[in-house]
Amino acid sequence: MKLTENFTLEELTVTSTGLKNVPGTNEIVALQRLTLNVLQPVREMFGNPIRINSGYRSVSVNKAVGGSETSSHCKGEAADLSCDDNAELFRLLRDNFKFDQLIWEGGDDNQPAWVHVSFKVAGNRHQVLKMRNGKYEFMS
Ligand SMILES: [Zn+2]
Repeated sequence: MKLTENFTLEELTVTSTGLKNVPGTNEIVALQRLTLNVLQPVREMFGNPIRINSGYRSVSVNKAVGGSETSSHCKGEAADLSCDDNAELFRLLRDNFKFDQLIWEGGDDNQPAWVHVSFKVAGNRHQVLKMRNGKYEFMS
């Protein structure tokens, strides 16, 4: 099912765990919101393909990948992204979009290993974080 020009529901529910990963109606609506408001417009701004490493996660998938218990992935509000320039993608998101949390995940000071972004229906906090050695810290 196509959500927008460049993104499908299948891409946003992908899992390498082999476990069942089927979103409910609320989670699909949240994935559509994330895609319409963030993923598709940043894809157009970036101009190159963006890969979804993980979008929606069922509780069992989330447990299997060691996600936090309150993970926004379980609500369909988050996606982990990678592309040929993760740092540039991170900057585009930080400087042009509304989001709840944007996380520079792993990697080094030049390139994150991947980028996590989440978007909620209301109360988006625009938090910019860095995850290093399993710990989250605010980036100024
Ligand atoms: Zn994530």
